[in-house]
Amino acid sequence: MQGRIVFATGNAGKIKEIRMIMEDTGMEVVSMKDAGITADIDENGKTYEENALIKARAVAAFTNDIVMADDSGLEIDYLNKEPGIYSARYMGHDTPYAFKNQKILDKLRDVPEEKRTARFVCAMALALPDGTTRTAQATMEGRIGYEIKGENGFGYDPILWLPEYGKTSAELTMEEKNRISHRGKALERMKDALKEALGE
Ligand code: IMP
Repeated sequence: MQGRIVFATGNAGKIKEIRMIMEDTGMEVVSMKDAGITADIDENGKTYEENALIKARAVAAFTNDIVMADDSGLEIDYLNKEPGIYSARYMGHDTPYAFKNQKILDKLRDVPEEKRTARFVCAMALALPDGTTRTAQATMEGRIGYEIKGENGFGYDPILWLPEYGKTSAELTMEEKNRISHRGKALERMKDALKEALGE
């Protein structure tokens, strides 16, 4: 595949992951900043998918390039699936994750293992220059751990424990995480839609 994709995010952690996942397609992935686009987007959707589409469409209005956007979050079953679509804003947008993660661990202090189920969810949206859109969604299942662990990744990675791997998401290398993550899986599905849209 050839060409350029503008990825509608200002999150440096996400862009790094997305560039690596898209490497094999041969397409160049640039951030909104790289593309010189500043859009103040109101993420007022009620679902991950709606928010991903809002972001992709808002940025598509400024460019003829293909645009992709994702909306993601952490769902904790014991907290009625919070923070969910509010994950970035949870406890304040600029509050450090060391603080947010510790607060979550405190909230779940006496909660037994089987009730600590949680997952990352990612909805990916693609906006094509012809005005059509595609979406794909995927999850990465785990449990909220008992301590903050791991230096890799970003956001809530250090508290999502992955029983099958015996590690938190922040203890995976980026390569390992991309293979199994919500974002990696949603983007793999999106690659198929992209190929089809480009007639390949
Ligand atoms: P968005 O940028 O509005 O989609 O917000 C996504 C938020 O969900 C991030 O800022 C993180 O707090 C959280 N999140 C989503 N994906 C991940 C991940 O892979 N690791 C850790 N936190 C994540």
